[in-house]
Amino acid sequence: MAELVFFSGTMDCGKSTLALQMDHNHRARGRRGTIFTRNDRAGAATLSSRLGLSTQAVEVREGLDFHHYVVKALSAGERIDYLICDEAQFFEAGQVDQLARVVDDLAIDVYTFGITTDFRTRLFPGSARLIELADRVEVLQVEALCWCGARATHNARTVGGVMVVEGAQVVVGDVVVNDDQIGYEVLCRRHHRKRMTSATSRAGALSPDVLPFDAVSPVPGQQ
Ligand SMILES: [Zn+2]
Repeated sequence: MAELVFFSGTMDCGKSTLALQMDHNHRARGRRGTIFTRNDRAGAATLSSRLGLSTQAVEVREGLDFHHYVVKALSAGERIDYLICDEAQFFEAGQVDQLARVVDDLAIDVYTFGITTDFRTRLFPGSARLIELADRVEVLQVEALCWCGARATHNARTVGGVMVVEGAQVVVGDVVVNDDQIGYEVLCRRHHRKRMTSATSRAGALSPDVLPFDAVSPVPGQQ
């Protein structure tokens, strides 16, 4: 039975690395797959991981129809045993429905990888639809850590080093907008709620005005 699987996690939890590993494992067994991604940090039509590995991929543009794409490829004589879809949080809800059709009607496995929630802690549309439709949702075990050492469960966006909770849902990181560097950082929920990034915690630790309970950060294994 083919499956629609959603591997979810925060940023920095190794999703793209796992996507590449999974493609490698299936290929090693003689299976053939097609890789899709959207807004990868390395640019269009590339799936890259922070560990430095990368491979060619099909860029998922607005309006791309997965079911149509796969049927067309199969009709042209291509072999497709599975799809790997990275950055699936950026997919449209309708595209996730098409992926479910690929699984059910064409008996092709679809492995999707994505961040669950955005920098405002709201579900991305693609992730929401995957949670609704997937046969399985796997929360990745390679866990990212907050600067305090706690498990990082939330994505923060920073503008000029300061955490923000308003703005467009999708802004690719490491770009400069209006002279401000846009960045992302994973935090535990506590520090996401307090809007304390590693930079502001360092500044806070140096400032005599900060209350001590904000400056003291639990160190792993030393609670
Ligand atoms: Zn924290």
